[in-house]
Amino acid sequence: MLSHFDTIVAPITGSGTAAVAVVRLSGPEAWKVAAEVFSPWRPEAMRAAYGRYRHGDDGLALPFQEGHSYTGEESVELSIHGSSESVRELVEACIRAGARMAEPGEFTQRAFLNGRIDLTQAEAVRDLIESRTAAQLRLANLQREGSLKRRIAAIRDHVFKVLASIEAAVDFSEEIGDLDREEASRMLQECLERIDGLLETAGVDRILRHGLRVAIVGRPNAGKSSLLNAILGIDRAIVTEFPGTTRDFVEEQIEVNGFPVVLIDTAGLRDSEDRIESLGVQRTRAIASGADQIWYVYDASVGWTEEDEAFVAPTGSDQSLTIVANKRDLIRNSPPLGPNAVTPQGRNAATPQAGNAVTPQGRNAAAPQPILVSAVTGDGLPSLLNSLPIDRDIAFREVAINTRHADLLANTRESVATARETLTSERPTDLASVLLQEAMGALGQITGETASPDMITRIFSDFCIGK
Ligand code: GDP
Repeated sequence: MLSHFDTIVAPITGSGTAAVAVVRLSGPEAWKVAAEVFSPWRPEAMRAAYGRYRHGDDGLALPFQEGHSYTGEESVELSIHGSSESVRELVEACIRAGARMAEPGEFTQRAFLNGRIDLTQAEAVRDLIESRTAAQLRLANLQREGSLKRRIAAIRDHVFKVLASIEAAVDFSEEIGDLDREEASRMLQECLERIDGLLETAGVDRILRHGLRVAIVGRPNAGKSSLLNAILGIDRAIVTEFPGTTRDFVEEQIEVNGFPVVLIDTAGLRDSEDRIESLGVQRTRAIASGADQIWYVYDASVGWTEEDEAFVAPTGSDQSLTIVANKRDLIRNSPPLGPNAVTPQGRNAATPQAGNAVTPQGRNAAAPQPILVSAVTGDGLPSLLNSLPIDRDIAFREVAINTRHADLLANTRESVATARETLTSERPTDLASVLLQEAMGALGQITGETASPDMITRIFSDFCIGK
């Protein structure tokens, strides 16, 4: 672990040109170092003062007293003009005056080591800085303020109570009698429910972090790339009039009602002699099966075909599928579209379809209604976006655990569940107490109380300089 007693320095604002940059000093000599590089240095805690830097720039110095700063240590935030050269010269001047360059994440690590925040809050600081959507920002702020920390603490308290009663019953059975196994097992059951409640939020975290994945699939020329571009409002994918040229995948992240959504444009889904093209089809199927939602796009001016049916039919009913009838502009006010054509209105007609036309509904009475859109005019795109299965409850969630938390909670769950079985099966209570100690240890690793120095270093090494 890094020593916590030296004074560290690093820019805390982004690199590159900006109007202003801020360099932070933290540690026992922070004020002393500041006095060497900035004048006049007449520190008053939490009061910014204007002055000049040794290297020629000018700006504000904001001193913090020990116990009242981000890291919990004596600190100073020095603002200067945001030129990378000015930042570099100021940092070097601080190093000459006795500070050391901070490691990535070291300011936040010190905040953790000094007990100002726990590990879940430190992780939330990183999430906050990296947040790109309203939902990510909101949740990161809640967790930074301790929403997850409190939930873990509540589970830990519960486990601790049971553990204490088991140990008391073992040590003082004369005085307090035998353990009330039924009550202990009921409390552990409640712990399990709370743990399960938290484990369920792992999916929310994945969607918030990586976005809801939507694979746009369909036959060549259905208008998938055009649809993606219409949604993005930019020409990111290659739009072409020749079938089957979108051979690679284009992924774009957008924000829908505050949530990240990743749109994946896939290659045309046509069986082909062309090796590259058929590889594209295979990859498309793989991508589609890994997506949270499939938009199956067909050309409404051509109608629903056997090929469309062939792709859609094997798609598991558990996978969310939206059928998108594109090129609405071409069918508006048009007469019926020939034997193969199925207009969205025609689909519901009782008359059997001619030729090989199949209706998206024909395959299954419960099949979704197509959403009618036009990539050219933009018609129907808002309804399409609003049809995404964005769990609006997410907006009211207070916590979402990450994979590190999920792994540790799964360990906790196993120990608690086995401890409970031990209690209900009349096996010796000592075993339950060992298991509950393990559960306490795993919960403590989530918040950092029982985390090893290695684990802490690993978590903070993910941060970048200045955090
Ligand atoms: P993809 O192969 O499914 O990606 O299809 P493209 O996006 O490359 O589109 C194929 C052709 O259909 C292009 O000529 C597009 O301009 C055209 N197209 C796409 N969407 C629409 C639409 O909504 N209306 C009309 N009229 N043409 C469209």
